[in-house]
Amino acid sequence: MEARKRLYIGLLSLTLLLMVAIIWLAWYLVSNQNALLNKVLLVILVSIAIFFAAIFAVGILAMVIMIMRSRTSPWQESVANIVNGWLFPVALLVGKLFRVNRTSILQSFIAVNNYLVRSKHVSFPGQQVMILAPHCLQYSKCPHKITIDAENCKECGKCKIGELKQLAAQYDCKLRVVTGGTLARKAIKDQRPGAVVAIACERDLSLGIQDIPAIPVLGVLNLRPYGPCMNTDVDMNRVDNAIHFLNQGG
Ligand code: SF4
Repeated sequence: MEARKRLYIGLLSLTLLLMVAIIWLAWYLVSNQNALLNKVLLVILVSIAIFFAAIFAVGILAMVIMIMRSRTSPWQESVANIVNGWLFPVALLVGKLFRVNRTSILQSFIAVNNYLVRSKHVSFPGQQVMILAPHCLQYSKCPHKITIDAENCKECGKCKIGELKQLAAQYDCKLRVVTGGTLARKAIKDQRPGAVVAIACERDLSLGIQDIPAIPVLGVLNLRPYGPCMNTDVDMNRVDNAIHFLNQGG
């Protein structure tokens, strides 16, 4: 397994190990308690913890199996989605505890997500694919209102929006430029795409991917030559590759 994917899976597994340690501690307390009520209460607590640990273990195992086999199945995806939703914040917390760079964890999560989406081997015609681009890609002095309609872009070449517009036309897919997560969710709700190619920073991408577990999202990280949120850039080859993959299904 590649290093970037290993980090995220490793942190999830570490979280699981910490939980097992807590269970063991609780069990130790049970065996050293004399009061019957304390014992009963602790047994109940341990049973609940074991139940959740078992779900997490199955979820992590499902993710590892999907990555190893480069193939997914509906039940594995469902369990992995549940575990992702529950353990993602915990994995970030554990990463912080062990001084692992947050950006690296988010990149690892996005890499795992992209790999799993690619492992589905499902194809979407152009009209069902949406390119979701952040507003910060637009040249900051451009007067055209592309968040209302990306067609307002005059393709002057000062930013990548023009090239994204051309790419969307080439594949016959939708292009939406949004100013934040709320509008991104609204665009998806309105247009109901089958799959999304999302361009954003690590934080917005990982949150967006978590927000819409039912829709396959291929994430492409933006480039920030002038710092975050202004005149950002994107590798067009990676966007092209993502759309092409969704079109062809691998
Ligand atoms: S490419 Fe489009 S969005 Fe970018 S600066 Fe030119 S007109 Fe504006």
